[in-house]
Amino acid sequence: MKIAVCASCGSNVYFENVTCLRCGHALGFDSSRTELITMEPSADSGLYREIGKGKPQRLVRYCSNAAHGACNWLTGPDDTSGLCVACDLNRTIPNLSKASALEAWQEFERAKKRLVYQLLRFGLPLDGASVGKGRLTFDFGLGTSTGHLDGVISVDMKEADDVWREQQRKLFEEPYRTLLGHLRHESGHFYWMLLVDGTPAIEGFRSLFGDDRIDYKTALEQYHNQGAGPEWELHNVSAYAAAHPWEDWAETWAHYLHMIDALETAEAWGLEPRASGLKFGSIWPFRTYDVYRKETFQALLERWVPLTLALNSLSRSMGHIDFYPFVLTPDVSKKLEFVHNVIRNSHNK
Ligand SMILES: [Zn+2]
Ligand SMILES: [Zn+2]
Ligand SMILES: [Zn+2]
Repeated sequence: MKIAVCASCGSNVYFENVTCLRCGHALGFDSSRTELITMEPSADSGLYREIGKGKPQRLVRYCSNAAHGACNWLTGPDDTSGLCVACDLNRTIPNLSKASALEAWQEFERAKKRLVYQLLRFGLPLDGASVGKGRLTFDFGLGTSTGHLDGVISVDMKEADDVWREQQRKLFEEPYRTLLGHLRHESGHFYWMLLVDGTPAIEGFRSLFGDDRIDYKTALEQYHNQGAGPEWELHNVSAYAAAHPWEDWAETWAHYLHMIDALETAEAWGLEPRASGLKFGSIWPFRTYDVYRKETFQALLERWVPLTLALNSLSRSMGHIDFYPFVLTPDVSKKLEFVHNVIRNSHNK
């Protein structure tokens, strides 16, 4: 995530902020520019005008979910739905009169915004209509199982309960379980449908991830009964990825999205450790790359590995579990590179 700066007072402000904590100016996320902008109220009620030198003087309004503390994204003044591009993907939201449901949903919305930010930065479509597929859709419910079907991501909001989520993590022996991870994973199933299934990429997919036509239900039962098999670490980014090629893809996709977000954040903060091939004073750390568009996969990997080593060491200094409890073997790297290429090639379609 890039760092934003308040156009009024110059303080650092963050993706989730609604006001600048220093000067009190209103902040909102402009999805058309994928930037947090600084605003002041206009004379028309409910509308805001961006401030800052050379900024367009157009009017915007907050998404109507801002009233629930669930969104800081903006819409146009005449937007009839009143919802921003990310909230407009919701089909079902919980009963907000229950405080626990509201809190869980707010937490999921924060994670979802980070996911949608990335999809926008990659220029990925949110709607599969052009290829005869559905639209990316979210159903937030309680007691439903988290999963994906034909573009609809169902989310069990119980996952926002930290104690329950930690129990599940232990039960399934996962190194890592987060709301953002869930959403990234499920979005992977949607984009497999759009960008891999029935496209020329399917052959490359099958040669790396395996044949997706094997029976899904049987494969999952086998995974839950017998585990991932002895050598999954050599070939899969997580144990669950070994369950079926679809899950392997979704886990790899989520992992790639983690990588890109963390790399952009590290770069924004000047945190990137010196990596092989990057010479101090030439391109590191003074020249920035758009990790969403420009870098080759190899260059990303060269930056990623030293960063994760440094962050794991920092975690240990603080007595935390490793920030990055993963190993990228050659097979896993090839799969990540495949995801990288599928995303970057999607612009040429
Ligand atoms: Zn400010
Ligand atoms: Zn919104
Ligand atoms: Zn899945």
